[in-house]
Amino acid sequence: MEASNTTNNTEHVKCLIIGSGPAGYTAAIYAARANLKPVLIQGMQAGGQLTTTTEVDNFPGYPKGVTGSSLIEDLKQQAERFETDVRWGVVTEVDFSGHPHKLIIDGEKTITADSVIISTGATARYLGLESEEKYKGGGVSACATCDGFFYKGKDVAVVGGGDTAAEEATYLANLCNKVYLIVRKDHMRASKAMQKKVAETANIEVLYEHNTKEVTGDGSVVTGATLIKRKGQADEEEVKINIDGFFLAIGHNPNSEVFKSYIETDANGYIITKDKSSKTNVEGVFACGDVQDTTYRQAITAAGSGCKAALDAERFLSEN
Ligand code: NDP
Repeated sequence: MEASNTTNNTEHVKCLIIGSGPAGYTAAIYAARANLKPVLIQGMQAGGQLTTTTEVDNFPGYPKGVTGSSLIEDLKQQAERFETDVRWGVVTEVDFSGHPHKLIIDGEKTITADSVIISTGATARYLGLESEEKYKGGGVSACATCDGFFYKGKDVAVVGGGDTAAEEATYLANLCNKVYLIVRKDHMRASKAMQKKVAETANIEVLYEHNTKEVTGDGSVVTGATLIKRKGQADEEEVKINIDGFFLAIGHNPNSEVFKSYIETDANGYIITKDKSSKTNVEGVFACGDVQDTTYRQAITAAGSGCKAALDAERFLSEN
């Protein structure tokens, strides 16, 4: 069978990779070197979540740090060096009922594939405020582990009441002068153990029943936030805090929607992979990166899981 075979707007490939974050590109590097001639469809946000962060200091191999966009460009060039075919496009429909697998790109082009690697990532939830959008990359971040370091000794806020918010607040408390934890209800959803950790951290102040009205700044970086404190049924009070960093920890949405009719996910939409592999419930379809990771969600763990997916795909193809 040819690696890539085109007839009448339908093309056949050995290995189709969906998503262009560190998981997708690492899968591509391994798949290409194994001569699977991968085609990589970049997806809605080329480069994934890394392109929304500024400096990345925790990806091994970059002693001086690297910007998220440069890291992605390096990964892309490395994948292309081994002749990965990187394309613009979004997978709009799939049919995993038989073999080969069938995928529609941008609603018009059909690709059939002997193996598919899903690396579509997850999208951090934001509050949806205009001011929040304005200061993305200038103090507004959805990843404390990625960006917390830049707020050493400063005051910051974390929004959310779940385990991620509690974990990020305690992580930031180690680096920062003060951390406001903005919780919309009168209690946190986080586990008791995490809540205890928050309560025992002296420089975290939990602001219960507070919602963010606006992130404020000097036009390029964050300098504060305006919050609304609920006082009883109908009473509200405006509260202003001075901060340099505003961290969102209100959950992520795994980008698994288009696969859901065929691929098993957990209640939150994360793709379920078997045992320690990247195998999904459908033969020949593998998943890696944040779309299947509810725990680590780091660029380097995504890259590692991309390597696993390519090795699993290679093994699958040689056995079938
Ligand atoms: P969760 O969905 O558990 O929590 C999201 C939090 O954000 C909730 O407190 C929610 O408030 C709040 N929130 C949502 N939307 C808004 C909004 N518009 N404005 C203000 N607050 C908002 O997400 P997590 O990322 O925290 O956790 C996801 C999963 O991962 C969970 O199962 C968690 O247990 C797990 N996890 C486990 C960890 C560990 O074990 N170490 C670490 C991190 C995550 P409300 O409560 O009012 O709905």
